[in-house]
Amino acid sequence: MKIDVITIFPQMIDLPLSMSIIGKAREKGILDLCVHNLRDYSGNKHYSVDDTPYGGGPGMVMKVEPFFNAINSLQLDKEASRIILMSPQGATLTQDKVKQLSKLKRMVILCGHYEGIDERVNELLVDEEISIGDYVLTGGELGAMVLIDAVTRLLPNVLGHDESILEESFSEGLLEYPHYTKPREFQGLKVPEVLLSGNHAIIDRWRREQAIIRTFHKRPDLLKNAKLSQVDQALIEKLRMGEI
Ligand code: SAM
Repeated sequence: MKIDVITIFPQMIDLPLSMSIIGKAREKGILDLCVHNLRDYSGNKHYSVDDTPYGGGPGMVMKVEPFFNAINSLQLDKEASRIILMSPQGATLTQDKVKQLSKLKRMVILCGHYEGIDERVNELLVDEEISIGDYVLTGGELGAMVLIDAVTRLLPNVLGHDESILEESFSEGLLEYPHYTKPREFQGLKVPEVLLSGNHAIIDRWRREQAIIRTFHKRPDLLKNAKLSQVDQALIEKLRMGEI
């Protein structure tokens, strides 16, 4: 997958995304990440990319021309790419959206700053606005990194064990079951006996129950869209009745 990021702070993105799993995905050529400095496309000798808002008010607004020039220079195949603006006004990022985006060949991410971006960037260039939550950040870079990390780990051969993606939180509308590793006992807390049994059918059932119990307690809102069997539903009923 190719991802272009357009930002006034390229260093903010390049270094953190050169490390760990995403760094390895770049080294292996699974992710081709290009970070572009918006100022290179300012079209003026001061490299200025913002100006005062029409109508007055505080702060500065990012200009339309630099974004327009930057995107033109990418020579995108419109059919195969998606232009995303990081914005607190966008739809909140979910794992389902991450999965959809991970199927794309190319994604271009625009990062705003200051009061925001001239609305004509949205009208002329942007396919979709994405928010990483209902709060306001100083700029789009952190959001872009969240998006790139979440999408890249779903690309084939990025994680050493692709099957872990199938079981993790949100994959079936549930939170993931609890994990344990050595030692067997720590400060009086023991690893659940079932995990030491070696019986994988019983372990799978226990993990499924734990995923449902956790989701019920921590994120009950997820249950209404989760894929649930009759056994799962019976368990939820018991939880509702306070029998567990
Ligand atoms: N004045 C804007 C508003 O009220 O909608 C907020 C602008 S914010 C200070 C500057 C930039 O940070 C935005 O253009 C966007 O790129 C980024 N940003 C801020 N909050 C974000 C969020 N929750 N998700 C994604 N990007 C965000």
